[in-house]
Amino acid sequence: MKINIAIDGPSAAGKSTIAKRLGAKLGYVHLDTGAMYRCTALKCVRSGIALDDEKAVCDMLKETEIVLTPEGGVFLDGEDVSLAIRADEISMAASKVSALKQVRADLVARQQEMARAGGFIMDGRDIGTVVLKDAEVKIFMTASPEARAMRRYKQNIEKGIETSDVETIAEEIRKRDYDDTHRENSPLRKADDATEIDTSDMTIDEVVDRIYSLALPFLQKEE
Ligand code: C5P
Repeated sequence: MKINIAIDGPSAAGKSTIAKRLGAKLGYVHLDTGAMYRCTALKCVRSGIALDDEKAVCDMLKETEIVLTPEGGVFLDGEDVSLAIRADEISMAASKVSALKQVRADLVARQQEMARAGGFIMDGRDIGTVVLKDAEVKIFMTASPEARAMRRYKQNIEKGIETSDVETIAEEIRKRDYDDTHRENSPLRKADDATEIDTSDMTIDEVVDRIYSLALPFLQKEE
């Protein structure tokens, strides 16, 4: 049986980049749970549903298909929204809908179902504390707000996503950090048994190697 690896941490700490690389190295599937909250937010914005109307958002979700492909594609009701969900406006909207208890319950259930077979590297805010409490390896990844804003800015430009300037991104990151850590439902926090890694001054390879070495004892037990 393959293990599961949980990676949590604040916005733009490098979770997805690292999870993708590690997934390729281990032959594991990376599951970006933030993309599911982003899809929910995108559909709300497009259909004029208020981001704090819990019942309306939940009713909408019941009729919503979100597919994350192993290659990193994100499909909302069959449409490829991989780029659309990365817009800054949708980041803020995702943070809002993610505070709703029933929305979390719906998406968490989908995530747990997907990871049942093992072999997943899941990244988000509540993976080690809620979604995969039994994950063999739990990481809490952080980086300074400045490092995170600069990374997100460069990433937006590389991907051709319309982007705000670095200062505006830093401000949005601070706001999302605050909202994500202070919300009532599943606030972002380090699981007691998670290993914290500050990636501010680390290269991608160094972070991947560090997590790999933490996972190795469990991987050796895999049949
Ligand atoms: O990780 P990403 O920045 O794409 O996530 C977008 C938003 O979705 C976050 O700001 C957070 O509010 C929410 N989220 C969450 N729980 C997760 C993943 C993301 O609340 N597991």
